[in-house]
Amino acid sequence: MPKVVIIGIDGFDPLVLDRFRDSLLNLKRLYDDVSEITIESTFPPDSICAWASIYTGENPAEHGLVESIDYLSGKRADDKDRSSYLQGRTFWDIAGRKDRKVCIINPFIAYPAWEVNGIMISGPVFEGGETTAYPRDILKRYTLPPLGGMVDFPRRDELKDFVKRTEKITRWLGEVGLKIYLDEKPDLFFLTFLTLDRIKHFLWRYTDEDDRYYPGENEFKDVIKRFYILFDRIIGEFINNLYDDSILLVISDHGHRRRCTKSLNLNEILRKKGYINTAGGIKGIIERTKVLTIRTLSRYNLEDWIYRIARLMPHRKALKRSTYLIDTERSTVSLANLCGANPYGGIDISIDGYGELERLKKEIITTLYQINNEYGQRIIKWARLREEVYSGRNEDKLPDVLFELDEDYGVGRDFYTKPITENYTHKKISGGHKREAVFMVVNRSKDFNFVDIPLNILSIRDYILKILHIGDD
Ligand SMILES: [Zn+2]
Repeated sequence: MPKVVIIGIDGFDPLVLDRFRDSLLNLKRLYDDVSEITIESTFPPDSICAWASIYTGENPAEHGLVESIDYLSGKRADDKDRSSYLQGRTFWDIAGRKDRKVCIINPFIAYPAWEVNGIMISGPVFEGGETTAYPRDILKRYTLPPLGGMVDFPRRDELKDFVKRTEKITRWLGEVGLKIYLDEKPDLFFLTFLTLDRIKHFLWRYTDEDDRYYPGENEFKDVIKRFYILFDRIIGEFINNLYDDSILLVISDHGHRRRCTKSLNLNEILRKKGYINTAGGIKGIIERTKVLTIRTLSRYNLEDWIYRIARLMPHRKALKRSTYLIDTERSTVSLANLCGANPYGGIDISIDGYGELERLKKEIITTLYQINNEYGQRIIKWARLREEVYSGRNEDKLPDVLFELDEDYGVGRDFYTKPITENYTHKKISGGHKREAVFMVVNRSKDFNFVDIPLNILSIRDYILKILHIGDD
């Protein structure tokens, strides 16, 4: 019976991989074996949504876990709700019920750890907190690095330490992960690294000469390449130590490259067209002041101050998202929570009457398609009714209309500003998620062949179960 080893790397990108391939000695060999390593991520390609789909094989309208990460506040309180939804539904739960011994280390959002047929170790999603494990005593046997999601929010003068610490955590997790694999000999081994994603978010522009905010020669120029080389070594260690009759998969939840440098200020566009109404008075003055302040700070390279000031503000999330300004009673549409400064967005519609609702959805789609940039080019790649993209029992958690912008544009929420502005947060967070994810296979099993490599991350769960000879019964 074949065994499976899965190395998950959050934000591992097929195009970046291709760019560095000649420096990646182990991955280059895999490349020569398979022609296609790109797999499609979910819409939106956010970590929570995409990993939930990988674990369960469910689309976002089925699992309904579609929140995006708020890098400003970093807060999400519902770790337990998410975990209790996932518990029992993941590929490792299914494998465990079929008596396969599993060993699951650092799965994103599957926190706290739950009882499995083997070992599960997981860290908190955003807020810090204890690493949890089943069985608990496993934490006494191994010294693990900090696990879980992003907690760092480095200022520019902290980037050097941030890189050093993140490199150390990555190497450490690779070593202890391999040790656990060799000690436990599980049928299903799944180890996830969450460090590359945060390195790219904060350092992309320092590495990319084509980024308009590239600062010139600098000490971080090769930092992303260095991480790809580090992952290549870690994967190489696993390949060299694979048990007989094993399949190794390298997967990512989404790609990660240059983040959008322009904002399409959709709140303002929809306000001008009468779909959104704002409260005037003092709130209007606050909004105008906010927009002007952020623009000025960014222009003078004081972007760290945007966040320092924002952190002192009460209701900072409402301020950032401009929600405090919206008169919901007199508005028929609103930007969905999943809209961030990236090209993936959605619009919620609230209007009485089924006929009116359907009419307004179509009208909004038409409106989106009519938005052009200063050269008269369309900015929207596509806009569709939710049900044309995904359907499932939790589809009401997705917005009524979904859309994707040209990749240089992100959704901006500011009011009283031009329809298109710079993305003033790009200097701070210059890497962004992409729909293209990675799927690579190392086959060390005689009775397994490569056919039916998944094209979408929704099929990864079934692929893993197939390797383990587990059907859908
Ligand atoms: Zn991710």
